[in-house]
Amino acid sequence: PRRFFVGGNWKMNGDKKSLGDLINTLNTAQLHPDTEVVCGAPAIYLDFARSNLDASIGVAAQNCYKVSKGAFTGEISPAMIKDCGVEWVILGHSERRHVFGENDELIGQKVAHALESGLGVIACIGEKLDEREAGITEKVVFAQTQAIADNVKDWSKVVLAYEPVWAIGTGKTASPQQAQEVHDKLRQWMKANVSEEVADSVRIIYGGSVTGGTCKELGSQDDVDGFLVGGASLKPEFVDIINARA
Ligand code: 13P
Repeated sequence: PRRFFVGGNWKMNGDKKSLGDLINTLNTAQLHPDTEVVCGAPAIYLDFARSNLDASIGVAAQNCYKVSKGAFTGEISPAMIKDCGVEWVILGHSERRHVFGENDELIGQKVAHALESGLGVIACIGEKLDEREAGITEKVVFAQTQAIADNVKDWSKVVLAYEPVWAIGTGKTASPQQAQEVHDKLRQWMKANVSEEVADSVRIIYGGSVTGGTCKELGSQDDVDGFLVGGASLKPEFVDIINARA
C-alpha cells in the first residue's frame, strides 16, 4: 500500500510570526501517523521551518537550481537545502512553469540533480484550461511526466503531483472523478513506460483548491495518494486535510 502523502505549499506567503503560529499548530495537532506530511517553505524560511517543525513533519524547498554551486545569483542548490536539514524539493510547479518560464528540459535537469544530491522530489505536472478543453490533457501530462521520468533512476524518492492549472488558486477543485481519471491514466502510463512495480508504488497526489471540505472524497479515490495544498495549507484546516483518510 502506498503511504498517504500530504504536502503543504506555502508559496510566497507568511512571515516568522504567522508561520511560527502555523508550525506550532502542526506540532501540537493530532496528525494521522500513517500520513507523510511535508511543508514547502519559502527559501529564506527553510532553516526556520526545519528548526521549528517537529521532526516527524518533513520540509520541502519550493524550487532549486540544477547545479550544486557557482555564479547563479539568487538561486539555491540542493546541497544548500540539504545543509539546512531539509529533505524535499518541489519542482516543476505550474507557477515555475508559467510565471517564471521553466520548461520541461530545465525541470528535468533540476529533477536529476536534486535526486543525485539526495533530496526527495515532489514533481508537478498539469494541464491548462485550454488544453483540457481541447481534449489534450493526457498528451500534455504524459509529455511532462516523460521529461521527469527521463531523469529519475530511483522512483522511491519521487512523488508525482497532478495539479491541473485551472484548479490552482481558483476555488475550482477538480471533481473526484476528474482527478481519479487522470491519476489512473498516469499510473497506466507509468506501467507502460517505467515498470509495473513503479506504477504500483509511486504516490500520485492531487493539487488544486483542495480544502477541508473537498479532501475526503478526493482522498478516497483509488489512485489519489494524497494532496499538494496551497492556500489551505496556511490555515488550521490543513490538519483536517492531513487527516482526510483518518
Ligand atoms: P491552491 O491549493 O491554493 O489551489 O494551490 C495548489 C497548489 O498550487 C499547490 O502546489
